[in-house]
Amino acid sequence: MQWERSEQLYKEACQWIPGGVNSPVRSARAVGMTPIFVKQASGCKIIDEDGNSYIDYVCSWGPLIAGHAHPKVVEAIKTAANRGTSYGIPTRVENEMARKVVEMVPSIELLRMVNSGTEATMSAIRLARGYTGRNRIIKFNGCYHGHWDCLLVQSGSGLATFGIPGCPGVPDAIVQHTHSLPYNDLAEVDKAMAAFGGEVAAIIVEPVAGNMGVVPPSEGYLEGLRRLCDEHGAVLIFDEVITGFRLSAGGAQALYGVVPDMTCLGKIIGGGLPVGAYGGKREIMEHMAPVGKVYQAGTLSGNPLAMSAGLATLDLLSDPGVYAELEEKAAYLAEGLTKAAAKAGVATTLNRVGSMGCGFFTGTRVRDFDSAMKADTQAYSVFFQEMLKRGVYLAPSQFEAFFISTAHERRHLDATIAAAEEAFVRVKQHYQTAGEKKTLT
Ligand SMILES: *Cc1c(COP(=O)(O)O)cnc(C)c1O
Repeated sequence: MQWERSEQLYKEACQWIPGGVNSPVRSARAVGMTPIFVKQASGCKIIDEDGNSYIDYVCSWGPLIAGHAHPKVVEAIKTAANRGTSYGIPTRVENEMARKVVEMVPSIELLRMVNSGTEATMSAIRLARGYTGRNRIIKFNGCYHGHWDCLLVQSGSGLATFGIPGCPGVPDAIVQHTHSLPYNDLAEVDKAMAAFGGEVAAIIVEPVAGNMGVVPPSEGYLEGLRRLCDEHGAVLIFDEVITGFRLSAGGAQALYGVVPDMTCLGKIIGGGLPVGAYGGKREIMEHMAPVGKVYQAGTLSGNPLAMSAGLATLDLLSDPGVYAELEEKAAYLAEGLTKAAAKAGVATTLNRVGSMGCGFFTGTRVRDFDSAMKADTQAYSVFFQEMLKRGVYLAPSQFEAFFISTAHERRHLDATIAAAEEAFVRVKQHYQTAGEKKTLT
């Protein structure tokens, strides 16, 4: 496989764009490569500028649950574009989107559309602070809530990949009210709330963590957060930017049966166009301007193209059986990958919830950020490169999820498992030739 054109384009990109990428996670630095440049995509396949074709497990980092360029989504965007791309005046499609979300996610009574997941969490925290009149917020190590200052503490995603614990440019004064605690450790939250619960505006959590690889909540964890928020009058915010409409029609909250006060959405709700949303209880949401005094606005918010693409995607997800099918495919893939690793004698831990998952190169259980960070990134690099050569595109970082779309068919999964069987053997060989002391089995 040749990547001549991609390499050339990357060199060009570096002249004008920092690190050649418009989002750090797209860089392939962490896996010892330069990024491929995509020319086009369809279904579960992407084709790069050199003409190489890959089965895609990044799916634009989650949004493309219906695959690339789904005809219904493309049609919806075309129809909307023909009527004008933005007005800054209310449209019917915004009502349709709001009604659809309220129907699918019962904890949301009112919602606001924004343009990214970052905007959603930023606005949700501002609202929680305005509503409670408190400043402190609790988040969890390895959870990523976008790149807003207040939440850039011990974050996952690119910050985990590139080893950035706190971010230069974020003044201490801005994060002095942010407390980052270990994920899945209710005792720590209990302690914090006992100490200063009366000053906590919100607890924000990814109900299934998807930015340190994938880490499901341990039993009773989300329920515990719910109880502590109730006891101390804090707002419980579920950041479902990844999990919303991915794990079920009602997101992670429906899957685990825990009801947050507020929910942040993004990714799937835009069907591949830039979008975010936050919503929740009417009583809280009515503190937003123009009804209340908490201010948040957006020139392109509720953009008709994004609303149309999102609605078309949500419509596809209302088909009965979609989530059962995704679950079945993902389970099949996970089992195949686990077997392939075992056959090659490579220690892995595969975490998966529905159609999102992550194979960690570690033999120990991954239940929080610390245990995720024990995964062997060298091994992942080898695996990534070997899979790429065999036509499978994974996230260029150990600490990211793989996603399955409705466009992934059994034959694609089988091809992926076959590629993985060879790639794991290469990982094993890498250790043998590198003379690593640690045992992988
Ligand atoms: C992707 C993501 C965000 C940020 O969304 P952007 O659209 O990239 O700003 C926030 N929270 C979670 C859980 C995410 O995965």
